[in-house]
Amino acid sequence: MTEFIALYQDSSFMMFFISLLMGSCAVCLTRRLTDFRGILLYFLGGLACLLADFTLHNPYVLHESDLSYNFVAFVNMMAALLASIALINSASLLLNRFWANKVMLTLYITVGLCTGIYYCFIQYNPDVCLNISALMLMLGVFLTFFAGCVLAYKMPYSGQILFVVSTLFLLSKIIVSVYFTQNETLNFNTLNWLWIYPLCIGAVCLKLQQFKEDLTVSLNKIDRLNMQTNNMIDSSPFPILIAKITGDKLLFINNKAAELFGIVKQEAGFYKLKNLFVDERNRADFFSELEKSHEVNNFDIMVYDMVNSTPFWLSASAKTIEFNNEIAIYMAFQDITVRKQRETKLQSQADKDPLTMTWNRRYFAKYVPQKIKESLQKSKNFSLLMIDADHFKNVNDTFGHKNGDKVLIAIAETCKHSLRENDVVARFGGEEFVIFLNDTDSASAAKVAERLRQNIEEAVVYDDSEREIQFTVSIGYVSSEKTASLEILLRQADDAMYLAKNMGRNRISGYDEQKIKELNVKKEATNTVHPVFQNEDGEEFSLIDSYGNDIL
Ligand code: GH3
Ligand code: MG
Ligand code: MG
Repeated sequence: MTEFIALYQDSSFMMFFISLLMGSCAVCLTRRLTDFRGILLYFLGGLACLLADFTLHNPYVLHESDLSYNFVAFVNMMAALLASIALINSASLLLNRFWANKVMLTLYITVGLCTGIYYCFIQYNPDVCLNISALMLMLGVFLTFFAGCVLAYKMPYSGQILFVVSTLFLLSKIIVSVYFTQNETLNFNTLNWLWIYPLCIGAVCLKLQQFKEDLTVSLNKIDRLNMQTNNMIDSSPFPILIAKITGDKLLFINNKAAELFGIVKQEAGFYKLKNLFVDERNRADFFSELEKSHEVNNFDIMVYDMVNSTPFWLSASAKTIEFNNEIAIYMAFQDITVRKQRETKLQSQADKDPLTMTWNRRYFAKYVPQKIKESLQKSKNFSLLMIDADHFKNVNDTFGHKNGDKVLIAIAETCKHSLRENDVVARFGGEEFVIFLNDTDSASAAKVAERLRQNIEEAVVYDDSEREIQFTVSIGYVSSEKTASLEILLRQADDAMYLAKNMGRNRISGYDEQKIKELNVKKEATNTVHPVFQNEDGEEFSLIDSYGNDIL
C-alpha cells in the first residue's frame, strides 16, 4: 500500500494555488474557449486529486469520525475517478478541442463505479481499491501530460525549452527518489502539477508570439493602406496639394499638381502657396473665405505655371486639415482655363460690336456709369465725344456697303489708336461713335477731338479697285464741368455734333445752348427719337435706367 500512498504525497495546497495562479494567467491569455475549458478542467482534476489525497492520508481521522474503511476507500476511488475524468476531458480539449467521446466516457464511469462498489462494499479489498485509484489517476495524468507535450510542440522555442527542462527535472526527481534515496514520498501528483508551469509560460510565449504576428500583420496592413492611399492621391486625376497654413510652404503635391504647376515633386518644399497666385487680391479673397468657414468650394483662382510663368485659371476647393501635427490647407483643383477663355470670349462677344470690335452701346451703358462714379470719387473731370461720319450715305452709294463697312472699321481703329488705353470707344449707332475720356476737362477734350478728327481725315481706305476713299467725321464734345449726368451729357454731345455738322462738317464743336436754339436743331431732335437712344430692335433706350439715379 505504501507505494500507492506515495502517489498522493507532496501535492500541497501551496502547489495547487501557485498552479491555479499560473493557470489563470494562461487562461486569461489563451485565445480559444476550448483551451480555457481544458485548463479549467485540469484544475478540477487537481482538486479531485487533493480529495483523493486527503481521504488516503487521513483514514484514521476519518475512521475516528465513525466513517467505515469501506466508505473512505469508496470516496477515495470516486475522487480518483472524478480526477481522471476531469483530466481525460482536459487532455481531450487541449488536444483536439472536443469533449472526450461520450460513449467511451460513460463506459469508463460505469466500469469505475461498478468496480468501486464491488471492491469497497461487496468484496472489500483495500489493495485492489488503491491500485484501481492509482491506475485511474495515472491514466489522467498521462493523458494531460501527453496533451502538454503536444501543446509544447506548438509553442515557440522558449515554451518548448521550459517544458523539456521541467520534465527532465521531474524525471530526475523520480529517479533520485526511487533509486537513491528510496524516498517513499515520490509523488506523481507533483508531476501532474509541475508541468503546468512550462505550459503556462508557453501559453504566455504563444500569446506574445501571436501579439507579434498580429502586430506584424497590422503594420503590414497599415503600410499597404498607406501605400494605397498615397497611390490614390498621387494618381488622382485632379491636382492636389497640401500647404502649411503658417508660412505658406508646400508640404505635398501629387503628380497631377506637379505637372500642372511645373514643379518637381521632391522640390515642393521650396515653393510657397502664395507664389502660385497671379493676383494678390484674388489670393487675399481666397484666404479670407477660407479663414471664415475653414472650407472653400469652387473658388476661381488665377495661378502661374512655374516653368514658363504662364497664368491660367483653376477652380480651387480647399479645407483646413491636420497634417503631420500641423494645421495645413488641403487643396484640390480643376483646370478651367478653357471654360474661362470661352466665358471671356462670350462676354466680349456680348459686349463688343462685331464689325468694328469697339464696345457696343450695352457695354457703354453698363460700364461708363462705373467710370463716372470713380471720377466723381476722385473729383476728376471726364468728357464725352460724339462722332458721326460725314455724308456716309454718299460713301455707301459711291463705293458700296462693303467699302462703307471698311471705312467704319478704319474710323474705329483710328479712334482706338489715337486714345489712351482706359478711354472707352463705343459704336452707338450706324456710323456714330461715342467716346468716354477719363480725367479730361473741356479744353483737353477739344484738343483730343481735334486730333482725332485730323487722324481720321488722314486715314486712308482703298476699295477693291484700289481707289482711295475719302472720309471725314464731325465731332461734338462735352465735359463734366457743369453736369455729371450722363443722360444730359449725351444729349449735349449729340447737339454739339449737330452744331459741327451745321458749321460745315469735318470739324469739332463744343456744346452751345444758344446756338442750338438758334439753329432750331433741338426741335428736330425732340420730334424724332435719335438712334443713339434706340436699341438694336428700334425700341427707345433709356440710359438713365441703366445707371441708377445716384450718379445722375
Ligand atoms: P451726315 O451724317 O453728314 O448728315 O450724312 P449721312 O449721310 O451720314 O447721314 P445719315 O446719318 O442720315 O446716314 C447714315 C448712313 O449710314 C445711312 C446708312 O446707310 C449708313 N449706315 C449705317 N450703318 C451702316 C453700316 O453698318 N455699314 C454701312 N456700310 N453703312 C451704314
Ligand atoms: Mg448719322
Ligand atoms: Mg453721318
